[in-house]
Amino acid sequence: MADSQRFDVLVIGAGPAGMAAALRAAECGVRVGLVDDNARSGGQIWRGSSDEHSEDAARWGERLRKADATKLYGMRVFHRPEAGVLLAEGPYDLCELRYTNLVVATGARERFLPFPGWTLPNVMGAGGLQAMVKSGLPIRGKRVVIAGTGPLLLAVAAYLRKQGAEIPMICEQASWSRLAQFGAALLGYPEKIAQTLQLKKQLAGIPFAASSWPLAARGGPALESVTISRNGNTRVIPCDYLACGFHLVPNVELHSLLGCRISGGYVQVDEFQETSAKAVFCAGEPTGIGGVELALVEGQIAGLAAGGRAPEARELFGERRRARRFARMLDRTFGLRQELRDLPSAETIVCRCEDVSYGRLQKHGSWRAAKLQTRCGMGPCQGRVCGPATQFLFQWNPDSVRPPVFPARVEDLAKMVDFQTVGCPTR
Ligand SMILES: Cc1cc2nc3c(=O)[nH]c(=O)nc-3n(C[C@H](O)[C@H](O)[C@H](O)COP(=O)(O)OP(=O)(O)OC[C@H]3O[C@@H](n4cnc5c(N)ncnc54)[C@H](O)[C@@H]3O)c2cc1C
Repeated sequence: MADSQRFDVLVIGAGPAGMAAALRAAECGVRVGLVDDNARSGGQIWRGSSDEHSEDAARWGERLRKADATKLYGMRVFHRPEAGVLLAEGPYDLCELRYTNLVVATGARERFLPFPGWTLPNVMGAGGLQAMVKSGLPIRGKRVVIAGTGPLLLAVAAYLRKQGAEIPMICEQASWSRLAQFGAALLGYPEKIAQTLQLKKQLAGIPFAASSWPLAARGGPALESVTISRNGNTRVIPCDYLACGFHLVPNVELHSLLGCRISGGYVQVDEFQETSAKAVFCAGEPTGIGGVELALVEGQIAGLAAGGRAPEARELFGERRRARRFARMLDRTFGLRQELRDLPSAETIVCRCEDVSYGRLQKHGSWRAAKLQTRCGMGPCQGRVCGPATQFLFQWNPDSVRPPVFPARVEDLAKMVDFQTVGCPTR
């Protein structure tokens, strides 16, 4: 039997943005639900935190524990059968979630770009490898080359080194001139300067290359080395892991399903974080990649507005303006360079769920045509990996999203059909 719960404010995502939204909404005295597909709150940055973020993680975690909100962890929202109703799948059953106001704080994922050898074992997302190490993967004594773009590379390098990994090189595709502009702009953010100096100390002695990216990963069956490009020269670096991510892309599939306006890849919101879909708010990475500070302030504004205390939310607008300026700086600094479009060869797999090569995709003119003819984007990840890659490689725009937005059990899909034809089977 499916369970059914009703909330005045339902928050999807228990990362920093969703935690802040849920606890500020709970302060308004309304009935709040917080759902996340992981067993614990904290999102990408705080889940399993035992590093420099742990103080913040503990403080916000403690506030959330005390907040009067129903926590539904281990449940993934995958469908919206009608306005005001969502379906979430837990480990054992389906749950119907009814809401008056909704805050969607689903975060972001890493962007992967295909290059020869990127599907070899031990070539991983930088954040993905960090998450695996946090969950117990032994990394002590392993050689990890870190490559791609964005501040996450440095955070991951510092974390892995602390866990005993050897980092032969960090390869950042942005140029020194862009990085220097970013560094100068950081002067307006004293707290970021402190973080940067701390990172510099933690990364002392690790070679850092700008204008550098992976050309090929080699080995068999597992990774043995990576060939990198650095200022036009190539170099082969022996390694056990390649941790590689090209900044982040927002998770906006649920927002699309809910009919929220999306522009330039980001969900559009008004001053109270409300989207173009009435009573649907959005906070954190889906509105712009801006880091934990932006996620927290947007989450608080969305929670207060959804909980009925919009005037209080206004007090946070200045803080949000500042955090948004930082997000724009990130976008400018870590924008992808043209050369990366030439990385895949005709044989390089682009859609790894359906084994579709770059050469097969080149024949098509749109994402839809490629899906129809090759099954690109139709595997278990539903285009979450190859979609952003083809957007960069071919400038294809993903079409509309269809439910279920995540793979779901057949028995739950069957209940979903019952729901749509005769109403929720529990009632
Ligand atoms: C892989 C990765 C690693 C990162 N590591 C770091 C780091 O080490 N240091 C750092 O400063 N920043 C890191 N970041 C960036 C950091 O996540 C952001 O700066 C910020 O914390 C984002 O907060 P958020 O609440 O918007 O999103 P998130 O923290 O991503 O939280 C979103 C939550 O929503 C859940 N969710 C998504 N869809 C659904 C659904 N359909 N149903 C239920 N739940 C759902 C997710 O599981 C997640 O728990 C990382 C980002 C990624 C993608």
